[in-house]
Amino acid sequence: MRVTVKALRLLGDGDFEKIIGEVLRSLNVVQVQADESADLDALEIFNEVFGDKVITQIKIVNGGVAKFFRKISVARRDERLGAEINRLVKKNLYILLVDNFGLDTVPYGVLHGVRPTKIIQRWLDLGFGVTSQSVIDRDKISRRLCSDFLTDRDKANLLTEVATRQLPLLKCDAKTIGVYVGIPFCKTRCLYCSFPSFVLPSDEKVAEFMKILIRDIEAAADAIKRYGLKVQTIYIGGGTPTALPEKFFREMLAKVFAGFYTDDVREFTVECGRPDTITAEKISALKKFHVTRVSVNPQTMQQRTLDLIGRAHSVEDVTRAFNELRAAGDWIINTDLILGLPGENFSDFKDSLLKVLTLKPDDVTLHALAIKRGSTIQKLLSDEINTLEDFRLPADAEVQKMATFADKVLRDENYLPYYLYRQSSMSGQIENVGWCRKGGAGLYNVQIIGERQTILGVGSAASTKVPDQKEVFLHTAFNAKDLITYMRDVDRYIAGREAALAEVYQPVDIAGNGGTIDGLRDDS
Ligand code: SF4
Repeated sequence: MRVTVKALRLLGDGDFEKIIGEVLRSLNVVQVQADESADLDALEIFNEVFGDKVITQIKIVNGGVAKFFRKISVARRDERLGAEINRLVKKNLYILLVDNFGLDTVPYGVLHGVRPTKIIQRWLDLGFGVTSQSVIDRDKISRRLCSDFLTDRDKANLLTEVATRQLPLLKCDAKTIGVYVGIPFCKTRCLYCSFPSFVLPSDEKVAEFMKILIRDIEAAADAIKRYGLKVQTIYIGGGTPTALPEKFFREMLAKVFAGFYTDDVREFTVECGRPDTITAEKISALKKFHVTRVSVNPQTMQQRTLDLIGRAHSVEDVTRAFNELRAAGDWIINTDLILGLPGENFSDFKDSLLKVLTLKPDDVTLHALAIKRGSTIQKLLSDEINTLEDFRLPADAEVQKMATFADKVLRDENYLPYYLYRQSSMSGQIENVGWCRKGGAGLYNVQIIGERQTILGVGSAASTKVPDQKEVFLHTAFNAKDLITYMRDVDRYIAGREAALAEVYQPVDIAGNGGTIDGLRDDS
């Protein structure tokens, strides 16, 4: 259901515009132009904060008649007060709108962040949901999610399951890190892509990129040595790293291996992504450099959808690439599927999932389509081309049905959910979730969402995140998403990464000439 409103006014205390916008978007309350017809002439939202209490009042005006509704909530006082106030503003408004307009509830209620499992991990740190015998009470955590954030019980249970399953993987000391390497090229650009990826340019241009990338890799490798850090995971993503022509692909892997690989590395992932980029030569390079985890990402097993979204490969390519990888090594193989692709319905998704499962992947990651600014599909949809049958997006309820089906089938096939994140504008208002069989969990996936481990970013669009020792603050540095800017200013990005590292680490005494013993700053 959608409610349209001509005039929207926010009044009262605080700057809640952003979070109020999140609630309105999730419930499909949309402001239209003053000259358009609408369900409501005006909606006024008024918030007052008194210490730990939030009073929210809404006024609706229609045909000259005004009605008022009000809701009061009080903070629990076991979290940061500012965060609690924001949560109560969202919760009050959500309840008022759902109760008084008969709007459909949404699966995650007012839980809007990208990393909802972090909330549970924070509660566990504070002792909430842990019994006196140190046993985790999943039901208690799940009930709190429902009551604090109005998530539905299935999603609360899923979040709690994932968050508690991750706990052993998240544990590591401050000097154990992950490394991400970003390769920004793809063979073609997918219709829904909002990543900073570029169609593979000429060899000459790739060679220029490689020179810069190698400088970046060497600087990062030098920092790792200087600070005495231990690399636990290496993840080469993009883009599609295997889109690189053979000689560049091998050179890139060799440099990454030389810079970051040691006996400490527990996982070395290369996103192969597009099956038509996987060749025998590249598979042999993956083996030579001790890669442990690869992905083949069909996104769908429907040929007409692959054609529509611009993937330029066939369903048979997926099977061929998967089988070649399986035959070549005992690495973990991940496959990605997308729920909510244009023109697809429940039967299409069901067929794709069942076909993928016949390949017996170790890990299946299910993404819900997110329509992002900058993607081709977003432009097409805003041109109202979605009236064409091919581009029609499945309704939220259809996508939710896909997710429910996947949950059942994957569990029946012995996969369990182990990492989860959300994005804005997700089809079905659901989540992205990684499912794996025993031993198939991607450690990097868990660490990047958990934000408790230092991740050092190399290459274009890569991010560096360095948690301080209390794990309450992240020092960050971001390489440019734009390739030209990254290549031009690479030294600036290297310096930014260095600055983030220097906030937490101190050089170790490699040559016995001073430096700290443990490589951590005393005040970190
Ligand atoms: S494969 Fe991924 S990065 Fe490349 S164009 Fe498609 S969505 Fe974008």
